[in-house]
Amino acid sequence: MESFDYVILGAGLGGLATAACLTRQGYQVLVLEKHYLPGGCCHTFDYGEYSFCADVHYISQCKPGQKIGKFLNYIERYVPFNSLDPDCIDRIITPEVDFKIPLGWENLRSRLLSIFPESDKAINDYCDRIKQLHQEIHDLMQDVRWFNRKWYDWIKLPKYWHLFWQRHWTLQDLYNHVGMPLKLQAVLAGQSGDYALPPKEIALITHTSLVWNYSEGSYYPKYHFKHLVNTIVEAITSRGGVIKFSTPVEDIQVREGMIQGVVADGKTYQAKRAYISDLDPKLTVQLMHNSQALSQREYHRLTDYEYSTSAFHIYLGLDSRFQPENYGIGNWNVWYYPTGDLNQAYDQQLAGDMNHPWIFLSCPTMKSSEGKIAPVGHHILEIATVCPSQPFEKLHKTNPQAYKAKKREVYQQVMTSVQDLIPDLNKYARMKIFGTPTTSEFYLGQPHGNIYGAKLVPHQVGLHRLGYRTELPNLFFVGATAGYPSVPGVIGNAMDVVELLTGKTVGGDKQKPQPELVLSR
Ligand SMILES: Cc1cc2nc3c(=O)[nH]c(=O)nc-3n(C[C@H](O)[C@H](O)[C@H](O)COP(=O)(O)OP(=O)(O)OC[C@H]3O[C@@H](n4cnc5c(N)ncnc54)[C@H](O)[C@@H]3O)c2cc1C
Repeated sequence: MESFDYVILGAGLGGLATAACLTRQGYQVLVLEKHYLPGGCCHTFDYGEYSFCADVHYISQCKPGQKIGKFLNYIERYVPFNSLDPDCIDRIITPEVDFKIPLGWENLRSRLLSIFPESDKAINDYCDRIKQLHQEIHDLMQDVRWFNRKWYDWIKLPKYWHLFWQRHWTLQDLYNHVGMPLKLQAVLAGQSGDYALPPKEIALITHTSLVWNYSEGSYYPKYHFKHLVNTIVEAITSRGGVIKFSTPVEDIQVREGMIQGVVADGKTYQAKRAYISDLDPKLTVQLMHNSQALSQREYHRLTDYEYSTSAFHIYLGLDSRFQPENYGIGNWNVWYYPTGDLNQAYDQQLAGDMNHPWIFLSCPTMKSSEGKIAPVGHHILEIATVCPSQPFEKLHKTNPQAYKAKKREVYQQVMTSVQDLIPDLNKYARMKIFGTPTTSEFYLGQPHGNIYGAKLVPHQVGLHRLGYRTELPNLFFVGATAGYPSVPGVIGNAMDVVELLTGKTVGGDKQKPQPELVLSR
């Protein structure tokens, strides 16, 4: 039996960031990872001469005083980032509108007002309300450690009455309240894939945090996501931390109300202080293989949530004749909604009708020219949309040939939308690879291929989040479902968890000067 101060289950960014902070504090840490690569959703895989980040396309909170900036400073590592194009971080295309979302909340407001002057009241109302809500969310997070609440925190709450009043609202509730015209509803929810829900379901507070954070800064690592992940891995291993790849946790041994050890690769690993799970919480409970491990109440708390939806991915390697600029593709993301009705589009796709779906499209070679992810002059495209997991799961288990046929069918359906934007795409394609929800579950253990952990609907966000602690005093959660998803989200979760474990505030250190932490292209 090998023994460490802390044993971390999963090398997603939540697990890695926790390990990096704990090794920085001098603890002995072991990370057990199922995949042969680090980073979880943020891992980069190679295919022929091309490399692709499996899931992540842009991140927020990279400035020195912000979450990712503070974390990198704390672990004493430096990662340079490029800003996405300040004039266009996301380009939203619907049948009626082709709109560029700029950096800066007031820039967005001005652009909306200049293009849609007839909707000035709804636009101003929307912008004011998101601004107000963001301010209250921000102040509350400073005022109250939501994961470590004290009784006297309740006295502070009346200050946050907008937030309290709108805590159960969806984005659609806000649209209805301000009378937002339909064509603008699609534009303002254009980044919907970032939370994988349509306006009628997404919690208003989650929408607010997302659009506000990206408007403050949208970044892409200068040497691609692999560099960000590898830098964190190096910070762990250079301080004596151990990461074991291709080592899935098979059993979590619980006795007498405590975890006694975890089994992986036939060996038992023990933590003297605590176990931190970056795995999906339901999966973590399943790995206990013991119906008596938790009280009924805790069992339901950790397993009764609803998952976010799953996705279909296409990764393309294109030759040097492909010129992204000719198709309106640049240092930004493209969101294309063929019908312009997001509520209806999600309903249709999640019911299994993938005819002419909405798509997300990113060209990472336009976001950074540094670091090699394609042959010189070549480009890659990463494309995604939501789809149900169930048809794939069923066929994968029962009929591998039919599974492959289904995969090809959905690929063709998604490509119909891609070809609306790039009609002659096939001419340039040197390689293509596509992944279903089953692929994500196979490689990353995401149950049913869910992409953001617990679904971000009003009754599963805010104070309803699962939290980091469990009734087992030596088991903590750190991943997307425990706190918040996204790269800054799970890195923030890790900083909170380390504070709970060691009592030391992570990221409170004085910032060291960084020569080129943030670069604009
Ligand atoms: C399609 C998609 C697009 C996204 N785009 C963005 C974006 O542009 N910007 C952004 O900020 N965020 C984005 N996100 C969200 C972000 O990537 C995630 O919220 C975050 O990376 C999740 O990190 P995590 O540590 O919670 O979990 P994960 O990344 O899921 O890591 C969990 C780890 O546990 C491992 N594991 C599972 N089972 C076992 C086991 N039995 N034993 C050992 N290890 C195991 C997995 O292999 C994995 O490495 C996207 C997510 C998806 C899916």
